[in-house]
Amino acid sequence: RNPRHQTPRPNRTDATEDGTGRSVATVTELHRSFGTTHVLRGLDLEIRGGEFVALLGRSGSGKSTLLRSLAGLDPASPRELTVHGAVSVAFQEPRLLPWRTVEDNVALALANGPLRRIRREHARRSLDEVGLTEKRDAWPLSLSGGQAQRVSLARALVSKPNLLLLDEPFSALDALTRIEMHRLVVALWKRHRPGVLLVTHDVDEALALADRVLVLDQGQVAAQWSLAVPRGRRNGDPQISAIRTHV
Ligand code: ADP
Ligand code: MG
Repeated sequence: RNPRHQTPRPNRTDATEDGTGRSVATVTELHRSFGTTHVLRGLDLEIRGGEFVALLGRSGSGKSTLLRSLAGLDPASPRELTVHGAVSVAFQEPRLLPWRTVEDNVALALANGPLRRIRREHARRSLDEVGLTEKRDAWPLSLSGGQAQRVSLARALVSKPNLLLLDEPFSALDALTRIEMHRLVVALWKRHRPGVLLVTHDVDEALALADRVLVLDQGQVAAQWSLAVPRGRRNGDPQISAIRTHV
């Protein structure tokens, strides 16, 4: 075991604890206010390696603020916030750079990492995994919404994160594209086994995909359920049965 695991500070370690069931993220007593609005009020959360967690909550309940805190993008004040290894985030809007090709957008996530040739190889592999091999030289503005979101996933996964934060990544997509994206996310998750925290408004989506569903309310995790084998992850074709239930 890497001795850095035991170091309480700095909060981020270089350790990899993927797929082991060990904690990849621990937050205790997280508080965050904007002006007089106390959004997160002593929130506690732990995500284990390889676990798929969904987070529900009303608009404005602080879901995005929590994700930004976990990603180190928000100056929230927790008692403890530890993330083991790399974190990636994908948002509702893919946020691709329009003047760079699809492949460049993915490779740029590795900008401080390996050599250019290696970055390019990783980016191509990541695009292969999301089914966009033939789009690597395309411009982001030529992509459909679903394709752009696939690039966003490829970019998030190219750095092999231990923790993947997804902030309503499918909310802007049409229903069928959303179902394709569910299938893709589950396949990618099975292959890489990051801990996932998926923010969604869609209760069906949470129940179909996650091992554990959390509800954020009043600035805390107000309820949670653990699920046995989520429907969208059973063998066979869960997407078809998902469609049938709506016919
Ligand atoms: P959710 O993602 O659950 O919809 P957010 O985390 O985006 O909620 O926001 C939670 C609350 O914090 C909201 O009331 C929102 O208006 C407020 N808030 C979030 N970010 C900011 C900001 N940068 N400045 C001021 N208020 C903010
Ligand atoms: Mg939000």
